[in-house]
Amino acid sequence: MKFNAEKFRENLAARLRRQYGKDISQANEHDLFDAVSASVQELILPSWMATRREYEKKPVKQLYYLSAEFLMGRALSNNLINLGIKDEVKKVLDEMNINFNVIEDEEPDAGLGNGGLGRLAACFLDSLATLDYPGHGYGIRYEYGMFEQHIENGYQVEYPDNWLKHRDPWEVKRSDLAVTVKFGGEIKYGKTPDGQDRFYLENAEEVIATPYDMPVVGFDTNTVNTLRLWQASSPNGFDLQLFNDMRYNEAVFKQNDAENITRVLYPNDNGPQGKTLRLKQQYFFCSASLQDLVHHFVADYGTDFAKFPELHVIQLNDTHPVVAIPELMRILMDEYSMGWNEAWDIVTKTFAYTNHTILAEALEKWDISIFQSLLPRIYQIVEEINRRFLIELRAKFPDDYQKQNRMSIIHDGKVYMAWLAIHAGFSVNGVAALHTELLKNVELKDWYGLYPQKFNNKTNGITQRRWLCSANPELAKFITDRIGHGWEKNLSKLKELEKFADDEKSLDELISIKRHNKEILVDYLKHHQNEFLDPDSIFDVQVKRLHEYKRQLLNVLHIMYLYNRIIEDPTFNPPNRTFIFGAKAASGYRRAKAIIKLINTVAERVNNDRRVGGKLRVVFIENYRVSVAEKIFPAADVSEQISTAGKEASGTSNMKFMVNGALTLGTLDGANIEIFEEAGKENGFPFGLTTEEIQKMEKEHSYSPQQYLERNPALAKVVGQLIDGTYDPSHQIFKEIHDSLVYGVEGQRPDVYYVLADFELYCKAQEEIAKAYTDKKAWARKTLINIANSGKFSSDRTIEDYVRDIWHLNKVEVADSDVK
Ligand SMILES: *Cc1c(COP(=O)(O)O)cnc(C)c1O
Repeated sequence: MKFNAEKFRENLAARLRRQYGKDISQANEHDLFDAVSASVQELILPSWMATRREYEKKPVKQLYYLSAEFLMGRALSNNLINLGIKDEVKKVLDEMNINFNVIEDEEPDAGLGNGGLGRLAACFLDSLATLDYPGHGYGIRYEYGMFEQHIENGYQVEYPDNWLKHRDPWEVKRSDLAVTVKFGGEIKYGKTPDGQDRFYLENAEEVIATPYDMPVVGFDTNTVNTLRLWQASSPNGFDLQLFNDMRYNEAVFKQNDAENITRVLYPNDNGPQGKTLRLKQQYFFCSASLQDLVHHFVADYGTDFAKFPELHVIQLNDTHPVVAIPELMRILMDEYSMGWNEAWDIVTKTFAYTNHTILAEALEKWDISIFQSLLPRIYQIVEEINRRFLIELRAKFPDDYQKQNRMSIIHDGKVYMAWLAIHAGFSVNGVAALHTELLKNVELKDWYGLYPQKFNNKTNGITQRRWLCSANPELAKFITDRIGHGWEKNLSKLKELEKFADDEKSLDELISIKRHNKEILVDYLKHHQNEFLDPDSIFDVQVKRLHEYKRQLLNVLHIMYLYNRIIEDPTFNPPNRTFIFGAKAASGYRRAKAIIKLINTVAERVNNDRRVGGKLRVVFIENYRVSVAEKIFPAADVSEQISTAGKEASGTSNMKFMVNGALTLGTLDGANIEIFEEAGKENGFPFGLTTEEIQKMEKEHSYSPQQYLERNPALAKVVGQLIDGTYDPSHQIFKEIHDSLVYGVEGQRPDVYYVLADFELYCKAQEEIAKAYTDKKAWARKTLINIANSGKFSSDRTIEDYVRDIWHLNKVEVADSDVK
């Protein structure tokens, strides 16, 4: 993009005048953020419009990525980098005495997601636009995103994330495209006003869905795709009659009820949601999105719906949007009078489903009573889909009643959303090689037997534009200085870095870049948390949602063990280490919250014990989110990826660490396996029980945590310290954690996630790390080899895989729009 500094300056001043009635000298930091962003948005608009025109001009197949979550983070820096004008804009601002870094920090994160699944959706949008594919996101404009986490007295406390408190400079409200979504009511059949016999709803609750569009700017291209987020409102506003009667609360009741649908993101990651409002959210955005697509299709092509699957492919990001399947059936049959078979033919060519987890508790199923009363007609359609499916199943497996029951989309009083997706979709994919194999052979074995051709793997990826170019500019420059540009759009080019693996000067420079990035994080923690870290220590980092299967507990138990050793043996002299955590726990996940309290309690003890000296420090970074993640990955030496083998579907933070030159301490789980494959096991620290070993113990019921405690007195000691008053004089706070490991609580087996079984192997791997870190050059060499072999983990590669095997899209090049 050609950048006109003079015009940008004028635009900025005009914005401040119009929006705030201020000149530059009167503007505060937030005004400046808003005005700069609005000026950048102005530069984006011509390409955005040109892209839309281009897609409409020729009939091209487009992808729609339906996702309940888009964890976008901040947009300003990313948009400037993708536009290729970040340095120029910084310079203009410098000349006006405006510090870019300060105004950048004024932007709230668009935290419309929980963790990996939502961030994946955001990385995919970036790659789609960058690679010139017509692909867009559809989701929910949550008024409140992921909660803001404070740590008070060591405990997590949640505050609302009011990210729209000020206006969002990137969104464009499209009231002209609003649609109506219906809930409840009674199903009727008969003549509608147009004289057709069909099903319709009577006495349904109507909710208005209004789209807000955000531009998705590709890197070094004119393509600007769209993220369309729906907001709910009441069609009637408030009740003026009741208001005039001074019945104020009743007057706004219906309005609030409608608006509540998009009020807040459910903060459960990989856990059951199960609430009516959640199903309402799901149907709300799926119905609005499908209506939007069908309206546009009919306007452009009429009602020849056979073309629909040639022009639309819909990817369902986990089961959250699966209700889109019966919704498209409903629209085709009830609104366009299509017959069942014809509608089914279209639907089954349109939807593809991504599975993100094998944790049983995260597979969505809805009570029939909830589903049916909220979505009566949709339920009726699901019943019919299932009735026809069961006929096929009985023909195929006439004697296997158990299998028929297991696979029935409706059984045991519940609607199984994953089953619906697999049956109706044409593709089912896992998100890492191991994960897909487990789906085929264990979790979805019945389904793989029935539909083997639907199953495929798409190993996740991350966008190097945000996680390298934007987050780690010094490393980006290091790379470009050596291999030139090109890696920004083709990450496998990083392989060329390998020839510098024995170049002293390059290794020295890599060491000093890491050191500087550590100083930046140290500075952040000094200002935000009054924590003082030693940038010469090993930064050993575990940042991700808090979940038992991710095993932050294993990490803490090892820290408690190290602390014991340091106290017991003053001659024990390991390299100085800083253990860094960042994690939000779902608000209702009691044990996860206790683990946060444990981390903070251990931190308090260790950090204030003079005997420890500089050997050990523990830090919990508050309110972990995308914008903080961007400061953490570049500063990390060690990437903790220590989930129980077989439980982490892929992981993506493991990839962000890798491209930023941290070495992986990881189990053979998810994409870790592929990371070790690419970088070589000798350049990382693999450890722990394998999936097969765990499966075997599970099958034979042979796991006994007690044996591990008896064999390893140091382990027995730290486990005992959870309840002996060492960390908690009341002996109560960590008792449940203790008992869950040793005895099993609430009917669970003891130590469900094999923490004690992996403890010794984890300690050994940590000892190797301590030893390896003392040779700085050798460490830097491993770092460089990891970076050089991270190409596979670009979301560009993932998107090309989806395009080739599932979406079958063509690239659409958008010409330079001459508007400047
Ligand atoms: C990448 C990312 C995640 C996913 O982390 P995993 O370790 O793969 O679970 C979660 N949250 C944020 C903010 C991220 O950027």
